[in-house]
Amino acid sequence: MTIPRALARKLVMKFSARQFFPKEDDAIAALIDAFQKYPRTKEQAQQVAEDLESEDGCPTVASIRRVSFSTREKTWKREMITCPRCGGTGFVERTFQRKGLPGVEHAAAGTCVAPCSCRAPADEALAYVSDELGGGV
Ligand SMILES: [Zn+2]
Repeated sequence: MTIPRALARKLVMKFSARQFFPKEDDAIAALIDAFQKYPRTKEQAQQVAEDLESEDGCPTVASIRRVSFSTREKTWKREMITCPRCGGTGFVERTFQRKGLPGVEHAAAGTCVAPCSCRAPADEALAYVSDELGGGV
């Protein structure tokens, strides 16, 4: 999901009265781009802007990127810790039943361990890793 340009602009403009807020349109656009690119959801973008308020001066592309990654990581961990299905372990126990062949009375049942649905989907995990390693601006 991409953050809407209008929201990214609004979040950047919150810092317009701060020291070092850029005067050049290109530099302002780079900050807006960073708010569109690094947080994964609108809620994360808002959280990133809020976290950046405690820093001095205007945020930079680097600080938006850094805070976005830490927000994304916290979001995963919180989702896992509060998961009612697995209690934060990331795994659930499943019971399975194997039916016998038609007309045969034989059946088997047992349990197995499966990854819980709260775990970050593989594509999200890969996007995180590739952004972290090579997604510089
Ligand atoms: Zn879970």
